[in-house]
Amino acid sequence: MNASLLVKQIPHLFNPIIFVTLRKIIFLKKLIMAELPPCPKCKSIYTYESGPLLSCPECGHEWNAEEEPVEEQVLDEGLVVKDSLGNILKDGDTVVVIKDLPVKGFQKSIKAGTKVKNIRLTYGDHNIDCKVDEFGAMALKSEFVKKA
Ligand SMILES: [Zn+2]
Repeated sequence: MNASLLVKQIPHLFNPIIFVTLRKIIFLKKLIMAELPPCPKCKSIYTYESGPLLSCPECGHEWNAEEEPVEEQVLDEGLVVKDSLGNILKDGDTVVVIKDLPVKGFQKSIKAGTKVKNIRLTYGDHNIDCKVDEFGAMALKSEFVKKA
C-alpha cells in the first residue's frame, strides 16, 4: 500500500465531527429506547419507530404503538401469582418468607420470617421482584412466601 495514502486516511478516520455525530446518535438511541415499549412478541428492548409503526430489529415484528397499551393490559391480567397458601398476590403487597432461602454470593440466607415490602410480580420462575433488607434487589419464588 502506498504510504502517503495511509497518512491521508488517518485524519479522516479520526475526524472529530464523525465522533461527535456517532455519540449523538448513540445518545438519541438511548433516549428513544427508554420511551418505547418492548417488542410484544420477543420482548426485545431495541424497539424503534418506523413511520407510524413500532418495529423490532430482532424478530422483525411491527405493530401500532397506539394499540400496544391494550395488549400490555391483557398480558398483565394473565399474570396470576399465588403465594404458598394459594392467595393471589399483587404489585405492592407485603409478603413474609416462609423458609430460609440461600442467596448466591452471600454467606447468609434470607431467613424464614423476613418481611418483604412492596413486591412486584413478574413472569418466570422467580416471579417476585423485590428488595430484601441487607440483600438488595432480589427475585423470589412465590411458593416460598406468604401474604403478610
Ligand atoms: Zn421482537
